[in-house]
Amino acid sequence: MPRYREEVKDYILNNVDIENVVSKYVTLKRVGANLKGLCPFHSEKTPSFYVSKNWQNFHCFGCSEGGDVISFIMKMENLDFISALEFIADSNGLDMSQFLDENARKVDSRLSKVYDINLCAAKYFRDNLKANSFAEEYLSDRGMSKEVISAFGLGYSLSSWDGLYKHLKVKGYSDDEILYSKLVRLSSNGTTIHDTFRNRIMIPIFDNRKRVVGFGARSLGNEMPKYINSSESDFFKKSKILYGQGISQNISRDKQCILVEGYMDVIKLNQFGFTNVFASMGTSLTEEQAHELSRKYKNLLFAYDMDDAGRKAIDRSLPLLEKHDIEIKVLELDKAKDPDEYINKFGIEVFKDCVDSAIDLYRYKIKRLKEGLDLKNASDRRVFIDKSIEYLKQLEDGVELSLYIQELSQETGIESSVIMTEYNKNKTASHRVQKNQKVLAESDKVAKVNTKTKLYLLEEKLFSICLSSKENFDFISESLSNGFKHQEFSLALLTLKEYYSSMENFSLNEAVDIMDLREVLFLDKYLRSENVEISNSEIQKLLIKREQEICLENIASLNSELNELLLYNDTESEVQARLKQSEIIKERHFFSTLLDAEKLI
Ligand SMILES: [Zn+2]
Repeated sequence: MPRYREEVKDYILNNVDIENVVSKYVTLKRVGANLKGLCPFHSEKTPSFYVSKNWQNFHCFGCSEGGDVISFIMKMENLDFISALEFIADSNGLDMSQFLDENARKVDSRLSKVYDINLCAAKYFRDNLKANSFAEEYLSDRGMSKEVISAFGLGYSLSSWDGLYKHLKVKGYSDDEILYSKLVRLSSNGTTIHDTFRNRIMIPIFDNRKRVVGFGARSLGNEMPKYINSSESDFFKKSKILYGQGISQNISRDKQCILVEGYMDVIKLNQFGFTNVFASMGTSLTEEQAHELSRKYKNLLFAYDMDDAGRKAIDRSLPLLEKHDIEIKVLELDKAKDPDEYINKFGIEVFKDCVDSAIDLYRYKIKRLKEGLDLKNASDRRVFIDKSIEYLKQLEDGVELSLYIQELSQETGIESSVIMTEYNKNKTASHRVQKNQKVLAESDKVAKVNTKTKLYLLEEKLFSICLSSKENFDFISESLSNGFKHQEFSLALLTLKEYYSSMENFSLNEAVDIMDLREVLFLDKYLRSENVEISNSEIQKLLIKREQEICLENIASLNSELNELLLYNDTESEVQARLKQSEIIKERHFFSTLLDAEKLI
């Protein structure tokens, strides 16, 4: 990862406008001081996603996502901080290289040369494809349309030894640069340079930033190996790439993505309108890829090959995905080894039906558990039930659980009540752990609250009551001649005053149309429905308790002042302070009697 000097962040923030960036993903409408639209991070029908041009910030009141333009792109494109900066720079014509440190500058110029060379090679392969009808025919025989061939930039590498090498030389690249790209190799005796890929269909592989980072290459006939890929390098890291990235996608969090094994599956499915299709670059998913997919999609459909290797690859990928909030289904295709072949054989409509009837993860797992077992055999049945229950323990939805138990019962002929009893036996132990964790979490919360002073909590409570109605607001703000002790509440009180001058009730939707987004965010934290019914005498009590707390805090601060005065032997000031303190103690006493009187009423 290149290193930049710190100023790069400000450079980006000062040179892009959040409205321009966000509006590429969200249709924004102006409302008062802000812009609003449908949140791209959660699904909603009425907009609660706001952008403030003044603050160059966004916030969603539905799911609480928020931040500046950099965090928007990090979330939207699932990029780390630096990559998000680079992404924004790329798409806004900004040049970050001026902020690179010296070493990074060298690496960067080397890498950008590689991307140039790769792009140049991709164009060369594409032109070869057009000039060699047999290669084009190979693809059309496999059912690829002209449009999809061009959208994915497919090409052909000639069977010549150095066609690409010579082409790149003509384009002005040095041997050193071309060798670094790994598109060519030095012969074993070190005298000649020859092309890495020959007589193959060339499939350019893009990264998130739409740069060509490498190639997949398929033989035209049955020549083995069928596929070869660019080798691992600084710019081609298979574990991080999903094939299908960087090609037009229409992502929304609701959408399903389809995970396939092969390049051809990705391309074929795109041709038929499935735009969110990816191939992991090995047979099973990596941690990075799982993270990437779960950040962008809510549902994932496995459409891996229907052989043993494919199933094992799914089994290996599942633990990585289950850590994330993503719903998983598995596609089962009969009489074809992969989606590409299936569509060629049976057509897209039949394939779509299969997608609709894909089985969910638990059914898939239970099916897998059944493999190799003979359920007519009592001991096999026992093994099957035990293993299945082990899986079902992860289910949280009671309805879903009982459906699965019924299904298990049908499958095994064992009554569902018996299975349920087994399940409960199994469940108790893990339940206890969960309960303990809950208790821990609760005590954590309590500890956090305790760090706030009593006075703060009282003011917080009073302030949140101000949001419940104009009447309560008037009552409280009139009682507080000097505002709140804590400045944040005092300032917000002024904002509220202006708001209530034209409105009777506080609502976030109204507020966001007239207030600054930051102010609304602050108010949002204190909106509590429980305050709507609060009585005046209850508010009165809180106000008195607040006065008492102020007294206590004043007494405490005078005490420490007194200690200091004793140290310096300043008798005159000491007398003054003691007098003041006794005044406050009296005052506090007065508030106590008031509270007692309130109690009597
Ligand atoms: Zn949201």
